[in-house]
Amino acid sequence: MKLLLVEDEELLSRSIAKGLRKRGYAVDCAYDGEEALERYGLNNYDLMILDLNLPKLDGMEVLRKIRENDPDLRVLILSARSGVCDKITGLDEGSNDYLTKPFDFAELEARIRSLLRQELRTRDVNLVCGGLRADTAARMVFWREEPVELTKKEFSILEYLMAHQERILSQEELIEHVWDSEADLFSNSFRFHISSLRKKLAAVSGSADLIVTVRGHGYRMKREGETI
Ligand code: CA
Repeated sequence: MKLLLVEDEELLSRSIAKGLRKRGYAVDCAYDGEEALERYGLNNYDLMILDLNLPKLDGMEVLRKIRENDPDLRVLILSARSGVCDKITGLDEGSNDYLTKPFDFAELEARIRSLLRQELRTRDVNLVCGGLRADTAARMVFWREEPVELTKKEFSILEYLMAHQERILSQEELIEHVWDSEADLFSNSFRFHISSLRKKLAAVSGSADLIVTVRGHGYRMKREGETI
């Protein structure tokens, strides 16, 4: 997932960006409102973190300009303006969430995750990885356009892996995003599902392992042309 961080305080920007990159996100930084719109025009972001007090163009103006044409981009306002009025204005102008400074990094990250999950659920897109295509609207998987029969759980694991194919996913993260918090899950149940998913993918693709185990870290999708 690619994020645009709009924050004029350089130290804060650097520390947020560093923390997010460490968690596997791709992060671009903009330091004023105009730069934010410029970068937004050039790239496809999954989410924007937006400060309000910005040089050149105020964050609220940036949000208004984006919302003129783009109702879908997830925008999380991160601002020192803590008044109820500011929050209401921010939400009315179309931000998806509002977090007040000072904030806890873990909370920022939790809110980002939550917004990205909502996006994955609602956005009608195909996730593609080599010969695999996951239609997230129909919840169907195809190998070179041949349908692959998967259980709901197998689909959810694969969807999450494909949506995040640029990084390694720990078993904990996959469980957190694929199982609901009420689920009474033991790790062997997770292993059972992932092993069954792998067998089905191997059967249709003839490729030994489309899901790579990275020892001590977790799992990732095999890259196009990669030999293991
Ligand atoms: Ca600021």
